[in-house]
Amino acid sequence: MDFGFTDEQKMLRESLSKLMDRHATPDYIRGLEREQAYPYALYDEWIKAGILAMPFPEAYGGLGGNAIDMAIIGDEISYRSTDLSMALGGSMFCGLNLVRKATEEQKRYWIPKLLAGEIKMSISMSEPDAGSDIGAMRTTAVKDGDHYVINGQKLWATGAAAKNNVINLYLKTDPKAHYRQGMSLFLVDNTTPGIEMKKLDMLGRRCTGTYEVFFKDVRVPADRLVGGEAGLNKGFDFVLSGLQVERTVSAANSCGGARAVVDLASAYAKERKQFGKPIGTFQAIAHMLADMETEVAAASSLMWRAAWMVSAGQNALKEITMAKLFCSETYAKVANMGMQVLGGYGYNMEFDMQRHYRDARVATVAAGSSQIQRNLIANLMGHKVQ
Ligand SMILES: Cc1cc2nc3c(=O)[nH]c(=O)nc-3n(C[C@H](O)[C@H](O)[C@H](O)COP(=O)(O)OP(=O)(O)OC[C@H]3O[C@@H](n4cnc5c(N)ncnc54)[C@H](O)[C@@H]3O)c2cc1C
Repeated sequence: MDFGFTDEQKMLRESLSKLMDRHATPDYIRGLEREQAYPYALYDEWIKAGILAMPFPEAYGGLGGNAIDMAIIGDEISYRSTDLSMALGGSMFCGLNLVRKATEEQKRYWIPKLLAGEIKMSISMSEPDAGSDIGAMRTTAVKDGDHYVINGQKLWATGAAAKNNVINLYLKTDPKAHYRQGMSLFLVDNTTPGIEMKKLDMLGRRCTGTYEVFFKDVRVPADRLVGGEAGLNKGFDFVLSGLQVERTVSAANSCGGARAVVDLASAYAKERKQFGKPIGTFQAIAHMLADMETEVAAASSLMWRAAWMVSAGQNALKEITMAKLFCSETYAKVANMGMQVLGGYGYNMEFDMQRHYRDARVATVAAGSSQIQRNLIANLMGHKVQ
């Protein structure tokens, strides 16, 4: 196993790091947070620099990158803010899902628009009664001539209201069938008549935003069914096909956020003096920092191993799941410790530690909760967990 990066991967990190330093300054991020505003200007810079295009096949205008490139991108953006990573991640995961599952005609239509920044994409599976159990979803699409008519409600839709956003919407197309056979994926413009969205007041991820989306007799042309007729009722396969990459990048996002927490806490402990000495010279604080550094290094090792296995085309379901579990829990844990290192300043909105503390808390819930990851790992070990 080779944990070294290629020259291209080193250049990718370096150029993205420079881009982020230039366009995602701490003040820019704090301003977006305060106003709860979507990072449009930064998103445009990612498009111009080919960051979104990186993992897409060259045949569709991409740069032919792999899971390691995606992990570098997730880690580097999340070093500034995991919230910002969500804006890019929606378009990236949904677009890659189309590369795997859409018809050739759909790919040629949608992917260039996405990579040119003309549209964005978000994913909507969750509903009020369908969270970990997505099979419980009730929002339906019913065929009516050459259209489908959508009725129902989605919840926790990240970035759904962004300008020119196309919601990748999982719907029941055969409500009587088990969800593994009765769910389909549709591409729905967020401005389609009959759609109403409400921004939810969440603890974190306040820029990209989390939405409740209502659908009342929303009509979409039949060609919005991903995969065409062959894609009908195949939605669950689509979800599964994207899981490995999505969870690897989710782990990378947590690693990037956790790295930032350790750097912020360590820098603070060198500067802040009490009793005439930097607080980092107190063993209680220094050991806490040493533990944080070690745990983030352990989490990163799991994550890079998973990314490496995915990029090598290996089945890495257990490794990815362990990485998602451990990295998200590490981010939440070190952010909590970072708050302690900063004392009262950590609790102040002028300091970035509180943002990490808030954003980290959801990492163990979204993209599959820690409990669901543990269930999967235990099942892969041969235990029949419910
Ligand atoms: C900020 C944010 C952004 C999100 N973005 C999106 C998005 O863009 N699109 C989208 O579709 N969804 C999104 N989600 C939804 C997210 O995927 C769900 O919140 C997650 O799957 C958990 O579902 P739930 O919240 O309904 O919790 P529940 O499934 O109700 O779980 C509640 C608790 O029970 C535990 N639990 C549930 N089932 C089991 C089990 N079988 N064994 C053990 N424990 C179990 C869970 O781990 C959790 O601790 C987002 C959520 C958040 C908070």
